Amino acid sequence: MATRDYAPLTPQTLAARLGGIEAVRSRAGDPSAWTVREVGDGNLNLVFIIDGPDGSVIAKQALPYVRLVGESWPLPLKRAYFEYNALIRQAARDPGSVPEVFHFDEEQALVVMEFLSPHVILRHSLMAGKRHPDLGGVLGRFCARTLFRGSDLSMKTADRKADLALFAGNVELCDITENLVFSDPYFAAEMNRHTPQLDPVVAELRADIDLKIAAQHLKAAFATNAETMLHGDLHTGSVMVSDTETRVIDPEFATYGPMGFDVGMLIANFLMAYFAQPGHAETEGSRAGYQEWILSVVEELWAEFAAEFTRLWREERNGILYERTLFEDQGHGIGAEQARIDRLAAIWRDTLGFCGIEMHRRTLSLAHIAEYDQIADEALRAKCEARGLRLGRALAVRRGTITGMEEVLNLARHIN
Ligand code: ADP
Ligand code: MG
Ligand code: MG
Ligand code: MG
Repeated sequence: MATRDYAPLTPQTLAARLGGIEAVRSRAGDPSAWTVREVGDGNLNLVFIIDGPDGSVIAKQALPYVRLVGESWPLPLKRAYFEYNALIRQAARDPGSVPEVFHFDEEQALVVMEFLSPHVILRHSLMAGKRHPDLGGVLGRFCARTLFRGSDLSMKTADRKADLALFAGNVELCDITENLVFSDPYFAAEMNRHTPQLDPVVAELRADIDLKIAAQHLKAAFATNAETMLHGDLHTGSVMVSDTETRVIDPEFATYGPMGFDVGMLIANFLMAYFAQPGHAETEGSRAGYQEWILSVVEELWAEFAAEFTRLWREERNGILYERTLFEDQGHGIGAEQARIDRLAAIWRDTLGFCGIEMHRRTLSLAHIAEYDQIADEALRAKCEARGLRLGRALAVRRGTITGMEEVLNLARHIN
């Protein structure tokens, strides 16, 4: 390379371009012996596995456009900078939860990181009917730790405001979320698609004014409630699992937003995996036990989130809000507990709302999920998807009156 100008990597050029970087070479070994595969299956970026004599690493590079759509939809390279900044913060806030970063090159929009192996994408595991120990626990704690420790509840004002400003630059990716998630499902947006048999349900949802208002209230919360640093794209395609480990990847959508956004999106993706099971069952009904396991993961996820949030509130509430000088130090520890309960109740309501909207957008908007898409029988697929759409409507509109997870899970079990 004559210049430092951005150029996409290829399997052929990669050893020549990255072989001289000590952080990469020290882990993969002699570049002349590297083999390189491009494995990106996501919507946006290039992802290479570099296999060297001493080990393997991942090189992820942004493209100047949306991979899923092509060059007609430009997207800034700067998303790699947000991904890098989010990864190092998540690693500090919940050690071991994300791949370790070995090298970052802003001009090349490139992050070289730990290769997770033998991990697979959780979404694929959920289609295969595989169980993973402590899945909800790890993810609930990941949410609590990253969301609490990235917020005013934990951070000092200067750091907090610097990070708010940094992640406020992630404009184009926020714009994608604002449109694709919160608006496109509710009208005939150009890039939408849905299973044809869903037409009647889709018409019902688009005529539902209460739902549109709910979606816009939630969009307002996403756009204006800069509560914490979000992962921003926390679905089951951004989680990798092995038999013993659960890790989170791909935080390029990181931005300051409401805590319930990450938690709700994640729960929605488990619930859609639940609804999709009949489309992946070996024989009719054979996934019933597995479906209940998925619901138990959701239950565990929220319970662990709330428990860890509570622990952090009590032990690490050293930021700019609800100061101990106002509560514990005055003998008003009970007030701090009341405030915690209020904040958790607000996060719960947001979580339900974002969860509902996520189920709509993954079924009606541009970016769908494999669990539904891979059901070849369209009538069966529509049946699974319709249940998710109806549950999504109930959660989004009734988020203020649903009191606990048991109610959500029973709705999921019985909705048609
Ligand atoms: P995108 O932003 O394009 O969605 P992802 O970060 O989700 O890209 O990565 C795409 C795919 O590459 C993942 O689904 C996964 O299969 C693989 N991958 C990404 N990061 C890693 C990693 N650290 N270790 C192993 N595989 C990874
Ligand atoms: Mg991804
Ligand atoms: Mg993606
Ligand atoms: Mg991504």
